[in-house]
Amino acid sequence: MRFIIYLVLILYGFLLACQPQDKEYADLILIDGKVWTGDPNLFKEAIAIRGNKIMQIGATQELRPLINENTKVIELDGKLVIPGFNDAHIHFLGGSIGLSEVELSTASSLDEIRQRIYRFARENPDRSWITGRGWQYTLFPGGMPTKEFLDTLAIDRPVFLRAYDGHSALANSRALELAGVDKAFSFTGYGEVLRDEKHEPTGALTESAQGIISKVIPPLTNADKLNALRNGMKVAASLGITSIQNAGGSADELALYDTLLEKGELTLRTLMAFSVGHETTEEEVNEMVRLREKISKPSMLRASAVKFMLDGVIESHTAAMLEPYSDYAGKGVLSMPSSRYRELVRLMDASGFQIYTHAIGDGAVREALDAYEQAIKANGTSGKRHRIEHIEMISDEDIPRFHALGVLPSMEPIHAEPGTIAVWSKAVGEKRLPNSFAWSSLQKSKAYLVFSSDWPACISLDPLYGLHVAVTRSTPDGKPPGGWVPEQRLSVNDALKAYTEGGAYASFEETSKGKLSPGYLADVVVLSQDLFSIDPLLIHKTKVALTIFDGQIIYKDSTLLNP
Ligand SMILES: [Zn+2]
Repeated sequence: MRFIIYLVLILYGFLLACQPQDKEYADLILIDGKVWTGDPNLFKEAIAIRGNKIMQIGATQELRPLINENTKVIELDGKLVIPGFNDAHIHFLGGSIGLSEVELSTASSLDEIRQRIYRFARENPDRSWITGRGWQYTLFPGGMPTKEFLDTLAIDRPVFLRAYDGHSALANSRALELAGVDKAFSFTGYGEVLRDEKHEPTGALTESAQGIISKVIPPLTNADKLNALRNGMKVAASLGITSIQNAGGSADELALYDTLLEKGELTLRTLMAFSVGHETTEEEVNEMVRLREKISKPSMLRASAVKFMLDGVIESHTAAMLEPYSDYAGKGVLSMPSSRYRELVRLMDASGFQIYTHAIGDGAVREALDAYEQAIKANGTSGKRHRIEHIEMISDEDIPRFHALGVLPSMEPIHAEPGTIAVWSKAVGEKRLPNSFAWSSLQKSKAYLVFSSDWPACISLDPLYGLHVAVTRSTPDGKPPGGWVPEQRLSVNDALKAYTEGGAYASFEETSKGKLSPGYLADVVVLSQDLFSIDPLLIHKTKVALTIFDGQIIYKDSTLLNP
């Protein structure tokens, strides 16, 4: 008898074990979709999420047993599912603040720029300054605007507008006056106060000279900045962005993200790079090391990188080239002496930081590679995944060095949007064009491509617009036919990887995010169209239907998904 009771108990226990326990059901499950696994020949149908992790991926039928009465089920109707986008080079605070300023990056004529500034001034009568950004060099005769353009609008307040790339700005006469910039004013830093033939300031300022004006603009409060970040996170969620790498910032900025994290509001996994430069002192480095140890919230917020600026941009001839520009007598200069840069790179590498270096011209790219190579040798370090940012031009000899040194090319497809590269192309010249934004050459050399937007220094934060350019090298309306320097195009699969896995690799998190795989963080995005089967020239029309961050739905477009 006792034996039978034991047997029944054992059988009962066995049955219980076979029944899915509560911990074995999914919280959220997406079914009947097309789940991208990273392999263009292997898609799955469904993805199950439990807590903040991906539980399982497979056929819809296979995953059905994971559904119970508490599981939220979303029917995808064949829609494409990808990991959350990782914008690996962004200036998120600046971009977020810009959301409440004059937005010019999508203005396609001088008239439109005028109207937007004028409208903004009229709608914001309480603002003491009219600020904004986004104008493109290409729209202005000669490639650079002057203060008269703004003065004729007859706005009685100071106006200060940055170019879309952040490397130049335009001030009206009132702003110049408030900052004390006149005929006698002298500036000796990196960049220039542009002047006309009578030595009168034209209103255009490049690089650090922009600071002359920006420092007289009344500063925002912390509460203003937190609200700006909240707005920015909403926009990011609507575009499927779930991770960012902030390319340059301060301890104060880091504290803002930490505040949002503490309040449970941070919906972007954030890696912060501290801005450093030739004036950075050893005490400052020690302070950065201290902050790096203190603010280390795995998978949410870290500050383990530093960012150098090594040159400017091609449009204003401030990028450092190996050979002279084709429309300007000069080849640009490094923004700091090579010896100082190399010394700092060695110090940062030895201090355990991952290094980002802004290098746009092929001369600056070579200098950064040389500096990394020397530091790695001198310090005996390896696997640091140091990065070079932008790389708009590169010489043939330097392409294989990325893979050889383990350095990551971190680039922005959106910067190669053919509608915006007229001034750029003229400065670079015919001969160098084949190596412009050389994604495919770098990819073939086995370098690990990392993609981003550089927002707000770009015409669009939308990763799908960037992806459109990466795959087609064309504008949304298909210009030029066949694409601009089409040999540098990428496949949809490779471009998607650079926008997801690439960023995860760049922050040493490729084993926990950037891919749809069981056990990975549940950062998941559903798209309105299947990128793998549509005409590539329609990629830009793709919308985000659903964004899941850390297992939670943070954005949903109900017009694109069944309830
Ligand atoms: Zn940048």
